[in-house]
Formats: sequence, C-alpha cells, structure tokens
Amino acid sequence: MTDLRITATSGTDAILEDAAIQKLRASLHGPLLCPGDANYDEARKVWNGMIDRRPALIARCAGVADVIAAVKFARTHDVLVSVRGGGHNIPGNSVCDGGLMIDLAGMRSVRVDPVRRTARAEGGTTWADFDRETQAFGLGTTGGSVSHTGIAGLSLGGGIGWLGGKHGLTCDNLLSADLVVADGKMLIANTDENPDLFWGLRGGGGNFGVVTSFEYQLHPVGPLLAGMVLYPFSKAKEALTLYRDFVEDVPDEVTTIGGLLTSPEGVPVVAIAVCYNGDLEAGEKLLRPIRAFGPPLADHISPMAYRQVQTLLDPAAIRGRRYYIKSNMMQRISDATIDTLIERFPTVPSPLSIVVLQQLGNAANRVSAAATAFSHRQALCEWACISSWLEPAADDVNIQWTREFSEVMRPFTTGSDYVNQIGVEAEEGSERIKAAFGANYDRLVGVKNKYDPTNLFRHNQNIRPTV
Ligand SMILES: Cc1cc2nc3c(=O)[nH]c(=O)nc-3n(C[C@H](O)[C@H](O)[C@H](O)COP(=O)(O)OP(=O)(O)OC[C@H]3O[C@@H](n4cnc5c(N)ncnc54)[C@H](O)[C@@H]3O)c2cc1C
Repeated sequence: MTDLRITATSGTDAILEDAAIQKLRASLHGPLLCPGDANYDEARKVWNGMIDRRPALIARCAGVADVIAAVKFARTHDVLVSVRGGGHNIPGNSVCDGGLMIDLAGMRSVRVDPVRRTARAEGGTTWADFDRETQAFGLGTTGGSVSHTGIAGLSLGGGIGWLGGKHGLTCDNLLSADLVVADGKMLIANTDENPDLFWGLRGGGGNFGVVTSFEYQLHPVGPLLAGMVLYPFSKAKEALTLYRDFVEDVPDEVTTIGGLLTSPEGVPVVAIAVCYNGDLEAGEKLLRPIRAFGPPLADHISPMAYRQVQTLLDPAAIRGRRYYIKSNMMQRISDATIDTLIERFPTVPSPLSIVVLQQLGNAANRVSAAATAFSHRQALCEWACISSWLEPAADDVNIQWTREFSEVMRPFTTGSDYVNQIGVEAEEGSERIKAAFGANYDRLVGVKNKYDPTNLFRHNQNIRPTV
C-alpha cells in the first residue's frame, strides 16, 4: 500500500498516509473504494453522464456509524468531502475530484408507521423506494417528478412535486431528520430539537451535515387522475395560454407541469401534464377544458396509482445521458414568456431536450417565505430547460443553446434559481448562488456558522460561513 494524493478542503493537493486510510477502512462496515478497485467506477458514476469526477476515496456507508467515521476522518485529515444521496443532481455536486465521497447509496431502508401516518427513510433512498413502501399502506407524501431521484437532495432543497397543491413541498412534510454534523456528532433536528437547524434543512441544501434519515408526514393517496396531453406546435400559443389560465386558478387538488418537447416524429409539441388528487368524477369535470382543447394529438390522462404518476416523466430522464440545465423561478407566465418559449424552442439542437414549467402548488404557495429556508413561496412555477443529448461532441452546442435560452428567459423570471437546479459556483458566480436562497440567505449563514463553521460541507450550493 502507498500514501494517497488527495484534495484538501481548500482545493489544494495533499498527501494522506496509508495508515490513515487503513484505519478508516477498518472502522467502516461498508467498503472503502479507491481508484482501481472493482466497483469504483460504478460507484463514482451519477445520473448525469456529463459528470466524470474521480474521488480519491469512496466510503459506501452501511449505516450511521460509517457516516460518523467518514465525517471524522475528513475533518481530522482536512479532506474535501462530497455527499451522495440519490446522485441525481445535474451539476453533480455529490461527487468530488480527489476527495472523499460519502456515499449513501447502500442506505435505503424505509419504515412506515401506518397509524401515525409517518415514514422514516435513510439518506440514500430514492422516491421509487419510498413510494413502494408508503403506497403499500395507501399513503404518500410530496416527492419529485422522476422516480429515481434521491429523497435527500430533493427534500433538502425544497421538493416540488405532484402533491404540492394539497400537501405543499416535500420539506413542508418533513417532521424530523437525523444528521451527522461537521464535528462528527449525530444530531436530531425537528421543531423541538435544534429548531434552527431544522429550519435550515428545509431549503438550505446539503450545507449542514450528512442527513442519515428523514421522517415525513404521510397522507392518504388513492388513485389519482393523471397523465399528459399533447398538442400540435401549430397551436402552441393557444395551448400555453390555456395552461397559464388554468394554473392561475386551480383548486388544491391539482398540480401541473406544462412543457415543450420533441415528438418521436421529430417535431416540437406542447405538453400539459396534470395530477388531480381528489374525487375522480370531480377531477374528470375539472380537467375537461385541457382534454377538449385542440383536439389534442394524444390524451394519456386516466385514473392511476400514485406510484405510476411518480414515473410519468421517467422516460425523459434516462440515467447516463448527457444533461445540462438552466432554470429560474417564475411568478407568472406572461404573453411575452409564451411568445419567447415558442420562438426559441424549435431551434433546440437535441430532440431529447425538454422545457418544463413545474407548478409549486397552492399549499406550497401558502407557506410563508420565512417559515422554512425555501424562500420562493410566491413563485407560481419553476421554468427549466433540461437539455439532454448523447454524444460528447455535441456538448458545446447544447450547453451554449441552453445558456442563451436562459438569458432571453431571465427577464420573465424572478431571477432567482431553485437551489436544487442551480449550477456550480464556478459557472454561476457566488451572487447567483446567494440569490437562490433569497431573503433567507443571511439567516442560513447564521445556521452555517453554528453547525459547519469550517465549511466542511462545501461541495454543494454553498453557503459560506462568516466566522
Ligand atoms: C430529471 C430530473 C427531475 C427532477 N425533478 C424534480 C422535481 O420534480 N422536483 C424537485 O424538487 N426537484 C427535481 N429535480 C432536482 C432534484 O431535486 C435535485 O437534483 C436533487 O439534488 C436530487 O437529489 P439526490 O439526492 O438524488 O442528489 P445528489 O446528487 O445525491 O445530491 C444533491 C445535493 O444534495 C446533497 N446531499 C445528497 N444527499 C445528502 C444527504 N443525505 N445529506 C446531506 N446532503 C446530501 C449532495 O451533497 C448534493 O449537494 C430533478 C432533477 C432531475 C435531474
């Protein structure tokens, strides 16, 4: 065995003695992977095929004790840390170059209490894992829109999902979290214990520690009326106007995603995806205008189980493709917004790329901006251009197109990104990262100062401590 070149928290190179690595290996129940080990290349891969980083060490944690050992090791030896939950984040914050990746992919157990209607899930759980267990009891909570996304990153950044109209964001349903903070202690954060930390975890991202488990409030979720309707691009103006008018005045039962995509025939189409969470007959009536307009090219709305709703967009989010995203919050969808979307989208270089207008939902909008760290409570929706392609040679053209699209859309947005979708600081600049936390930024700095004063957890949408 030889000493290892690693990246220190400052970003500079350092040498780590082999004895320290062997001590860490011996203290872990799960494997510690190094370059060259079997499974190393698989473990460092994340959902976005563009991300090709090589951690010096990957600790595949088997439980909380492993997380504590890994955090203490990183702190003691000043090693750069990244934390992997579901590994779905487009900028790839969960995997670092040269540092220690604390990998929770092996920690995915979910325990449901059907009487209290709560569920506790480990930090590497995906929404597919979570929904499978909770739906066995006819229960569920707001998740994301793609089933293989991790609960961890999504919940810590806020969590916009299909039940948002009735039940708010995912973080609004978070009851408690266990996390290992920078000094290696495990803390419980909820309204009674460490309430400042609990506030910060609901929108502040992965800035405060490694969350080893989350406890959520569940709700009865029966069959839903859901699916997608597609319209020809020749009717794009009318279809997007219909969408806008519809979302501005929907009951809590409805949450929607409007979008633009390219059909298998290679032509742009408008999509409206809906989820009605209530009496199915009332839902049929309410969704009639959406389904009658056009006529649509296709109407895939039907009663379905929540687990099925949660996979509706999976075909547009295949693991391993190349992805790049630009997004912003939007308070309204103006006529000019619609015109710009229609003008720009047909120039998209890749047929795999999509544009979405994802509604936060009425209940999410009713929570005050200061109640949790997620500050975008006035936003009607998040607009996102999720570009996707297959060949590395097409990186530049797709990235450039997405950036230009984002710039022409910016005047129609709040100018503030969703923490879960913003790019890395080197690209976005520290001011945009700050803006993603909105008016809550200064209070978040206070939480950071208290729980992570040395900024061990920096490989994310970083809030810099000021102590
Ligand atoms: C196709 C697609 C669809 C999406 N749809 C939605 C959607 O509908 N709604 C929505 O709100 N968001 C959505 N997102 C964004 C999603 O919320 C983020 O990508 C989120 O970061 C994913 O969480 P993860 O655990 O899978 O990510 P990871 O890549 O594992 O982590 C993301 C960040 O969280 C940190 N982190 C992860 N686990 C932990 C942990 N246990 N403790 C502390 N920090 C941790 C990481 O260090 C990293 O900074 C979508 C993203 C994609 C790519």
